[in-house]
Amino acid sequence: MYPFSFTKAANTREALNAGRSGGRYIAGGTTLVDLMRETVERPETLVDIGDLPLREVSVTERGGLRVGALVSMAEAAAHPKVRALYPVISQALELSASAQLRNMATIGGNIMQRTRCTYFRDVSADCNKRELGSGCAALKGFNRTHAILGSSDDCVATHPSDAAVAFAALEASVHLLGPDGERSVTFADFLLKPGDTPNREHALRQGELITAVEIPSLPRPLKSGYLKVRDRQSYEFALTSAAVALHVRGGVIREAKVAAGGVGTVPWKLPAVEQALTGERPSDHLWAEAARHAADGARPLQHNRFKVELLTRTVERQLRTVGGTK
Ligand code: SF4
Repeated sequence: MYPFSFTKAANTREALNAGRSGGRYIAGGTTLVDLMRETVERPETLVDIGDLPLREVSVTERGGLRVGALVSMAEAAAHPKVRALYPVISQALELSASAQLRNMATIGGNIMQRTRCTYFRDVSADCNKRELGSGCAALKGFNRTHAILGSSDDCVATHPSDAAVAFAALEASVHLLGPDGERSVTFADFLLKPGDTPNREHALRQGELITAVEIPSLPRPLKSGYLKVRDRQSYEFALTSAAVALHVRGGVIREAKVAAGGVGTVPWKLPAVEQALTGERPSDHLWAEAARHAADGARPLQHNRFKVELLTRTVERQLRTVGGTK
């Protein structure tokens, strides 16, 4: 560790003032404190936002769901509205981290968590995300867990959040509050692919706070669920995952929302899979045909070619689980 100052914001105004002056927000701290211990992150000032009134889960006027940024992962996973309306979110959260971490970590922090790339967390390794221009040790190193989609010549790290995959599938938006007021960013625009600036990971401006994640209203009935494939069944990040939500009426799929995790530099929406499903009748043949598009555009690395096939199978299995066998 190294010296830093710590302040607790009593209200939103205090938090924003501290953030505008360069303070770094902290809530559950389950990622940031780890990174500070490893000196990967070295903020000079931490601003504890744990007392801000951002702990509510509510149904919006339009029938969507708004989850406050400071709702813990455990609270969100167990919330009756989340379970009833979007089981895919509950399942993604319950398959994340450990029970202790889920009690501490918040929804806002979860989507902001940084990559688990081991080279990023090893300050002796070259890493463009940690130090732009230094290189990427993963490209020629051990890259079994890295991305096959959305990568660049400068970074191939995956985004580690499971919940973010569910949010991406459901086309959620992120509500922000900053010195210039409130704004909302679609989930697709919030997390950034690495390109040639892998050090830039999100659309937050200086001093902005995440206040909530909002999932839009989707037609009912809606079946949804999350499948996570990993090396061990607990406390492990995804090799591949699939978040699926299907609206079927009159025996026809009217809407399909599908995204994948463990494979992309950001949670990876699968529009080609969604398109292949929409307007069709559920069947085992359809699940297999649609899933064939899951790895479209993949650029596997030396050690993670297996992810192409694994992703296809993960998506197919989760489509069958949610949509049924016919
Ligand atoms: Fe750093 Fe990204 Fe390369 Fe990992 S993959 S070493 S995070 S630049």
